[in-house]
Amino acid sequence: MSSPKSVFNSRIRLLHIVNHVAVLLGIAALILGYISINYLWIGLAAYVWFVLIGTTIGMHRYFSHRSFKTNRAWEYVLGWSATVATVGPIVGWCGLHRYHHSHTDTDEDPHDPRRIGYWNAWNYNWKPSKFTRKSIKGELADPMIVFFSRHYFKTIFAYIAVLAIINPWLVVWCYCLPACGAYLAISAVTVIGHIHGYKTFDVGDKARNSWITWLLSCGEGWHNNHHARSWDHRQGYAWWELDPSGWVIENIIANDLSKPDWTKAV
Ligand SMILES: [Zn+2]
Ligand SMILES: [Zn+2]
Repeated sequence: MSSPKSVFNSRIRLLHIVNHVAVLLGIAALILGYISINYLWIGLAAYVWFVLIGTTIGMHRYFSHRSFKTNRAWEYVLGWSATVATVGPIVGWCGLHRYHHSHTDTDEDPHDPRRIGYWNAWNYNWKPSKFTRKSIKGELADPMIVFFSRHYFKTIFAYIAVLAIINPWLVVWCYCLPACGAYLAISAVTVIGHIHGYKTFDVGDKARNSWITWLLSCGEGWHNNHHARSWDHRQGYAWWELDPSGWVIENIIANDLSKPDWTKAV
């Protein structure tokens, strides 16, 4: 059997270069008055959807950490959104991210910014991760996850095609912009989440709680809390540690929060 694929490859990287250029063109068109301001509101809604639902809730808190339970319909929504967010196939992302948690800020960490450099950590020039098939055997046994990982680019381009048929500008605002947002969110957590902010828990790594990370990632900034309690669907514990993803999980997506009780964890 072939070894699991890493998160980023040259085709995803190329797609992101195109996405960033397209967003700049879209913003220029907006500023110059070629298109309606309504595209911006639609784009921001798509941005929040793919960063929150696709990336922080779907890819991170659900698939990588299994920090809550939900029904199969939501699993498909999370799986599709995580895929279209263009941060890498679910299978590889889970494997690499779990490896990061078990080797944080060591030579084995695929993206420790102090070891590989801030630019490389920010732009996914990460070290090859040595995660095993065993660490993702649950994902490999799920036909839905295998489907989205195997048909990764087809899933993304099918979405792009539907948008293009409706209105080509929607490709920029409902795909390119959210994909750039997901890229930014993960880069911010990977780099700033390990260098800036305060620590609530002393867990022996360099993860920090940071409002800058929080802003850039739509609420995924309490990274020290997360490294201390990665099994918890919540990341914010203090009153100022607002946690929109945690709220959405509790009130909309989860049907079972029977993981360890976060209120007793602090
Ligand atoms: Zn981390
Ligand atoms: Zn994590």
